[in-house]
Amino acid sequence: MSPIGLDTLHIGAMTVSHVSDGVLAGPRRTWFNGVDPAQWMPAVGVTDPDTPFTVNFGGFVITGDGHVTLVDTGWGHRAHEVPGLEGAGLMLDRLADLGIAPGDVDRIVQSHLHADHCGWLVEDDEHTPTFPNATVYIHDQEVAYWSGDEVDLIEANRKMLPTVRPRVEAVRSAGALRTYSGELALSDAVTIVPTPGHTPGHVCVMVASGGRTALLVGDLAHHPTHLEHHHWLPVIDHSPEQSVLSRGRIAELAAESKAVVLAPHFPIPTRVEVGRAPDGSFHSEVN
Ligand SMILES: [Zn+2]
Repeated sequence: MSPIGLDTLHIGAMTVSHVSDGVLAGPRRTWFNGVDPAQWMPAVGVTDPDTPFTVNFGGFVITGDGHVTLVDTGWGHRAHEVPGLEGAGLMLDRLADLGIAPGDVDRIVQSHLHADHCGWLVEDDEHTPTFPNATVYIHDQEVAYWSGDEVDLIEANRKMLPTVRPRVEAVRSAGALRTYSGELALSDAVTIVPTPGHTPGHVCVMVASGGRTALLVGDLAHHPTHLEHHHWLPVIDHSPEQSVLSRGRIAELAAESKAVVLAPHFPIPTRVEVGRAPDGSFHSEVN
């Protein structure tokens, strides 16, 4: 049993820990945009659409290849101000529980740049980088989206812009930003896989070692049922069509590689396996 807010698993020679920045409980109709609750309620095990779900915020830390790689950086130092998240902003404490200091982190991969995923890029209102030795990998489409013309942003993202943009600029000014397009292998065991849709430059991270695979899927799935029902999309997706395609690709990869699927918003611990029936449909199982 892991301590509260941490779940650690071993993937061959690699170690992957799900690290919490805070938890809230809330109704999640917004994860099933336009879908009749009568369809999605049985799949998530509720009989009232407003039954609160536990939602985790945070990210993952990967070790075992000579690097300390953080995937997503939570809400950040003002997390406790978010309604329902009183007491949050705990990611650095959880990293300390693992014996990891900010200066030890040498790589950060942002699955995307929503405000609840890039918070600890900076540690204060002066936008001081929290992890002084980290190279920050952000897909070039994602950087372009949040740095470009506001008219390209959907409404919810436009509201986040004043929070997100200075964080990216802080990383860029520190000389720490590394953009890329396409798949990118960070080591023999860690590969970034572009999965656009939720945002234009959304990515997943694959950890593969010793015949085992973990897929860190970002906001490709807010609930394990999203790995089965690829058209049940959250309200906030930038391109629903692309999201459906990306989910299909990752679900297929997960089924083929018998991967453990992990996502930052899943309650800790939640480890998911995806299987495929002879008729081609997918099913997910929480372990
Ligand atoms: Zn999110």
